[in-house]
Amino acid sequence: MKLWQRLFGTMRDAPPSQRDEELQCDICGNKTWRQQGYFLTTAEVTTSSYYWVFKREVLFAMPVPEDAKVGMFTEDIESSVSDRTPWLVCERCSVLFVFDRKIARDCAIRKTAPPNSGPADLDAVRSAAQKAMLMFK
Ligand SMILES: [Zn+2]
Repeated sequence: MKLWQRLFGTMRDAPPSQRDEELQCDICGNKTWRQQGYFLTTAEVTTSSYYWVFKREVLFAMPVPEDAKVGMFTEDIESSVSDRTPWLVCERCSVLFVFDRKIARDCAIRKTAPPNSGPADLDAVRSAAQKAMLMFK
């Protein structure tokens, strides 16, 4: 335990945390405690191809016509990219993303936006989504 604390620190230096709250994970929609999740930036979420693979699977399982799905997928890309608020991500979904777990957990505990929050680069997001589409061919 001491080695663990030396390597990764403890949360003792964080200010008294605000009361925890049960919220929905922004990825899977399941309930999660904020302080047991992670706050990610829009870029961290939307430039992950795995995120778009997940979104694609959810969307394509929906009982709507194929051409409507393509439109919905495009709409999803455009609405996600401009999100300025942190994304609450549960432990299970966190494996889809590359991010600093300590910073993201700390932000979730403190309820503050992670560094570099704000809209993501649309081209980078489109490229990640495109890769996700290719993974299914
Ligand atoms: Zn989740």
